[in-house]
Amino acid sequence: IIELANLSAYYGDKKVLNNINMRIAKNKITAIIGPSGCGKSTLLAVLNRMLEENGGAIEGKVFFDDKDILNYPKDELRKRIGIVFQKPSPFPMSIYKNLTYAPLYYGVRNKKILNQIVDDKLKISGLYHEVKDNLKISALKLSGGQQQRLCIARALTVEPDILLMDEPCSALDVKNTANIEDMLVNLLDNYTIVIVTHNLSQAKRISDYTAFILDGEIVEYGETNEVFNNPKDKRTKEYIEGIY
Ligand code: ATP
Ligand code: MG
Repeated sequence: IIELANLSAYYGDKKVLNNINMRIAKNKITAIIGPSGCGKSTLLAVLNRMLEENGGAIEGKVFFDDKDILNYPKDELRKRIGIVFQKPSPFPMSIYKNLTYAPLYYGVRNKKILNQIVDDKLKISGLYHEVKDNLKISALKLSGGQQQRLCIARALTVEPDILLMDEPCSALDVKNTANIEDMLVNLLDNYTIVIVTHNLSQAKRISDYTAFILDGEIVEYGETNEVFNNPKDKRTKEYIEGIY
């Protein structure tokens, strides 16, 4: 569904990703792991074209459904590729408005359809019973874990094909992390997920494929079981064993 071909990324003169070649599998979870500063967030920023807005530039190509992402209008690309960040960041408005914001932006006006989207996405996120009687309260009143589930629900309101997640659980406790992991695994029939995580056991638990990045290069990429149990590169083994 996504293919990176000889992709390098720069901030000014600094090369942050170096000649990445990878295909991201449809309806699977791909985990991106690697030490701080190796380029994981940059990789996500390339995929939804945030990098250029952050002052970066790319060399090489990124294809989404076989079409160069530079040929997609940005709005369309962002509709099809959603993103969720580390820090739960709902809009400072009601739960209902958080979930109707993007559909309204993309032209959905029918109240019934909007309500349906809100209900559906709350159900998917496991928040439905917790908040259904309080849709008018500010999303900022929710707990951190609830806020993050709301942010994932919000990302899904435009029916993206791909969900990018940058350490979505690192601000959460074990219970909330487990809720989100369950949610992600249940999404796979309809979505492709790329998750950056520092939590190696999380990558093992939920991902189908794992890419290990070091200094902007892909050192290892393959089925998660293989990467963790039978790494081909010595550096992968060292990282998994906690040496980096
Ligand atoms: P972490 O695990 O700490 O989030 P990361 O793997 O996500 O790290 P990136 O944020 O992709 O790493 O950063 C890769 C490199 O690019 C780092 O050296 C960082 O300093 C640099 N960098 C990131 N954002 C910018 C920016 N806006 N301007 C200049 N350099 C940047
Ligand atoms: Mg990062």
